[in-house]
Amino acid sequence: MNRTVIRGGLVVTAAEELHADVLIEGEKVVALASYGSAAAESWTAEKVLDARGLYVIPGGVDAHTHMELPFGGTFASDTFETGTRAAAWGGTTTIVDFAVQSVGSSLREGLDAWHEKAQGNCAIDYGFHMILADVTEHSLAEMDLLVAEGVTSFKLFMAYPGVFYSDDGKILRAMQRGADNGGLIMMHAENGIAIDVLVEQALAAGRTDPRYHGEVRRELLEAEATHRAVKLAQVAGAPLYVVHVSAASAVAEIAAARRQGLDVFGETCPQYLFLSTDNLAEPGFEGAKYVCSTPLRPREHQAELWKALRTGDLQVVSTDHCPFCFSGQKELGRGDFSKIPNGLPGVENRMDLLHQAVVEGRISRRRWIDIACATPARMFGLYPRKGTIAPGADADVVLYDPAARQTISAETHHMNVDYSAYEGKEITGKVRTVLSRGTVVIDGDAYLGRAGHGRYQPRATCQYLA
Ligand SMILES: [Zn+2]
Repeated sequence: MNRTVIRGGLVVTAAEELHADVLIEGEKVVALASYGSAAAESWTAEKVLDARGLYVIPGGVDAHTHMELPFGGTFASDTFETGTRAAAWGGTTTIVDFAVQSVGSSLREGLDAWHEKAQGNCAIDYGFHMILADVTEHSLAEMDLLVAEGVTSFKLFMAYPGVFYSDDGKILRAMQRGADNGGLIMMHAENGIAIDVLVEQALAAGRTDPRYHGEVRRELLEAEATHRAVKLAQVAGAPLYVVHVSAASAVAEIAAARRQGLDVFGETCPQYLFLSTDNLAEPGFEGAKYVCSTPLRPREHQAELWKALRTGDLQVVSTDHCPFCFSGQKELGRGDFSKIPNGLPGVENRMDLLHQAVVEGRISRRRWIDIACATPARMFGLYPRKGTIAPGADADVVLYDPAARQTISAETHHMNVDYSAYEGKEITGKVRTVLSRGTVVIDGDAYLGRAGHGRYQPRATCQYLA
């Protein structure tokens, strides 16, 4: 069996930091031993990677991506091929994407369609959540089957009436089913019915620029929906995972639920930590680059999100990667912000942006790995195969240079999108080498991976319940 040794690095996991060598056999990590110890010295391998001066970290787990998502008459511009390749460049080795049930169709049809898109095209490993857009007796029954085969989380929307929206009764039924079968309910928590009224009023008053996207999607309507989702979950006796939390008041609802001892979890995204309504208000139509839902919030919310990541009131940072090109896609909303496709690129940038937060002293190194690798893996039933470096884990390993400097730019990124939301941002830290199940897929400036290396990952149920 092919053996690789990673020598001399600082192994950083969510649990510990140690100067250790890592032995990989085939696709798995098989041993760690102290750097320079007799045990480590005795290892022989075909391949030796010199990690002196580098961090040796688990590959990133991005639990929220939308490759090729149909939205607003167009498609997210990254395919599973381009998007997973870009993820690898950025040190992410697993994504969990969202298969979509269309209204009037079964979960099975949606899931099959997403398998078809991903199969044979991914550079890194992938799993699926299921978007539940049509809660019926049939689709509720199908949830049990999906959980049994490794699709163990279901996203519901309190927003987007007429597309993905579920009313409170449907949400309650899905939560009750999830409480029974172990499926974790993920919630897009914004009051979409109220938002649509404000959208209509804004457009009628001639307020059509991108920045009004942020204004009509009021913070209060995120907080209200988050509160309602928590109460519905409590009635159902179900755990709840709130996706892309952006408002400080929504964080407060999650924190309050957690103080009651409830299994309520929250995810935020780099765009909410690093960008703000200032970006949405950029001159001309530039603000369209930053249109996503939940929307970017005023700058002062950022401190609350960082605080929640430190205290544990928020547990995961995923990207909600859903790129649309500025040219030809975001432009669909010129003169009407409600027609701007919602979504930002980011799958390639997440590990670096969060490392920058380590450099700036916002979070520790171990917390970086916790929120970006270990906890998303546990939350979605992939641990310890993914999310850590330990004997028996998949050899998804990143050699990360904490001192290298880089500037984020659309000129140099690998995502299939014509702009960067972080254009010009300087980052300390850079991916050096990436292994996916023991295979080197990124080596310095070379991509050595291939479409089809990435394998579908059936998942266990949530491993994060209190
Ligand atoms: Zn999403």
